[in-house]
This record gives sequence, structure tokens and C-alpha cells, in this order.
Amino acid sequence: MNQRLEKLTSWMKNNDIQVTFLTSLENVYYLSGFYSNPHERLLGLAVFQESEPFLVCPGMEKHDAKRSGWDQEIIAYSDIQDPWELISKSISGRMNSAAKVAVEKEHMNVERYEKISALFPSASFISAEEKLRKLRMIKDARELKIIQEACSLADYAIEVGVQEIKEGRTELEILSAVEFALKKKGVTEMSFATMVLTGANAASPHGNPGMTKIQKGDLVLFDLGVVIDRYCSDITRTVAFGDINDKQKEIYDTVLKAQLAAVEASRPGVTCAEIDLTARRIIADAGYGDYFPHRLGHGLGISVHEYPSMTETNELVLEEGMVFTIEPGIYVPNVAGVRIEDDLVITSSGADILTKFPKELQIIK
Ligand code: MN
Ligand code: MN
Repeated sequence: MNQRLEKLTSWMKNNDIQVTFLTSLENVYYLSGFYSNPHERLLGLAVFQESEPFLVCPGMEKHDAKRSGWDQEIIAYSDIQDPWELISKSISGRMNSAAKVAVEKEHMNVERYEKISALFPSASFISAEEKLRKLRMIKDARELKIIQEACSLADYAIEVGVQEIKEGRTELEILSAVEFALKKKGVTEMSFATMVLTGANAASPHGNPGMTKIQKGDLVLFDLGVVIDRYCSDITRTVAFGDINDKQKEIYDTVLKAQLAAVEASRPGVTCAEIDLTARRIIADAGYGDYFPHRLGHGLGISVHEYPSMTETNELVLEEGMVFTIEPGIYVPNVAGVRIEDDLVITSSGADILTKFPKELQIIK
């Protein structure tokens, strides 16, 4: 059994949980090494306190599951079989009943909950999510190497994007040039839908790129990430196209100052709240507190948003191996939208910045 499964089973023992049944592709991948996006079909991993685990996957993926290194039982079902009948058989070979079963309460749907309840009619169900989030929060050396590679490609994407800025180009034209360049480097998937936002659009933290044409005097905001070996990166840079006004410049300088201070404060032993507040106070002192409407950042890994959550109320203490973003922003409607985002890893004595594209204001002529 791998180390991650061992940690899960020792948690199960300590909490008197007999079975954990996971169905999110991220957690199944983290624990089994098998990655599959099954769409509406069932993917599952059953872990038992006292017996061997099994993986459930669509029949056509059985060989991929074996190739991924999973050497325990695989329940592979065809499109005309009911996977729950096969699961029921495998479970009854292992145990008669369970008092406590852990599932992903936020992820599991009602139909699957009814199926699993029928298998364990006297069980109480508890959430496995918090435990999995904590396990995934501390990255090992292999994970860090992959994330660093994803971050280097994110830097490259920004470099391409900045070069593509030309008078009259649309947001979507620049976006497609960035993704085309990445595909030529072998990147098959982005962490989320790439954002290239200009002018008034950049003043929405989660705007949608469209047919807006870039004009002189605009700020252009890029927010993107690439997935490498199932791990995500996430970077934001904002650049100026032509000369910008004093207000835009002041907003940029404020965001940069806040971002640099929060990066500087990141080290083991400091709470997430302290890091968020380091940036938030600088923005508030400059008079833009109401225009920074989101948390400072988020953990990053197999999911683009995971633990730790960098909020002003999270008293979680940073530890070596945690990977997260620092991304303060100021969004003033009709004036400017600026966000600067880096990915960091906490080291034994401080933090390494994994995204390295320059942050000083760049004015594209
Ligand atoms: Mn981002
Ligand atoms: Mn982010």
C-alpha cells in the first residue's frame, strides 16, 4: 500500500471509520495514481480499515488503470453493467457491515449517496474531504518539481501574450495566440479558461475575454495557468499598452507594493491571515480597500483552488511544502483593473517564488 493510502487508513483507524469511498477524480488520482475523467460514468476508490482497497472504473479504462501502477483489485464495468452490483459483491467479500463510512459530501451526488447507503444501511456518513485537503496541502519533492515546470510554462505564456499585444487586436486573438504557442510546447490543458482582459473588462476580477479590441492607454490583464502531469499553475500579470494615466499608475503601484510585501512575509510559522492582512492593509491604506473584493490567494496542486485558503480569517500556520498563490487586485469600474499573481512554495526558512515573469510595470509601445 502506498504512503498516502497508509495515512488515510491510519486516520480511519483513529476515527473508527471502516470504509472510505471516494469518487472525485482528484482524490482518486491522489491516492491511487490513476487519473481519469469519467464524465457521467462512475470512477471510485474504496479504502477499508481492515482489508485491501479497490478501484472502480469504466471497462474501457481498465488497461490504463493497470498501467498507472495500481496493483490492487480493479472493478471494470461495461456500459451495460451496473457498477453498483459489482461493488456490492466486492464489498460483501470483505465485510458484513460498517458503522461509519467516509465520503466526499461536497462532491457526491444524491443518486450515488442512495446507492452507497443501500450497501451500508446502518452506517453514519462522515466527510472525507477535510482529511484529503490536509493530506494534499503538503507537497512532496516530485509534486514540487512538476508544479515548477507548470509555472515555467505559465511564465512563457505571459511572455507570448505580452508580445502579441498590438493596436486593434481582440482579447480572443491574443488568447488564442498564447494557447497555440503552448500547444506547440506540448501543453494539452489549461488550469482554467485563459483570461485576456483589456480596458473596462479588466475591472472585473472574473471577466470573460471577447471581441474587445486593445487600444492605447489600456491596461491588459492576463490570468492563466497550465496543467502538467495533472498539476496546475496560475499566474496573473497586468501590463500597460501605451502611456497610462496617473490613476492607473497609482493603482498598479499599490497592487505591486501589496503583492511584494505579502511574498516577503511568507515563511513557515506565519498564519494565512497574517499574509492576507499584510497585503490588504497596504491596499486599504492607499484608499482602495473597497476595491479588493477577494481573498489574497489559494492553495494550488491537482486542483487550481485547494488548501490553504489565504483569507484574513484563516489562522492556519504555513508549513514547509505548502504551495499557494498571492494575488492582490484592485478593480475600479471604468478606471482600471490590476491584479498581480505569483505561485509560491514554503521552504524550511522562507518561500520560493515559482512564477518568475517580471512584475515591474511594463509599458508596451
Ligand atoms: Mn489566476
Ligand atoms: Mn489564482
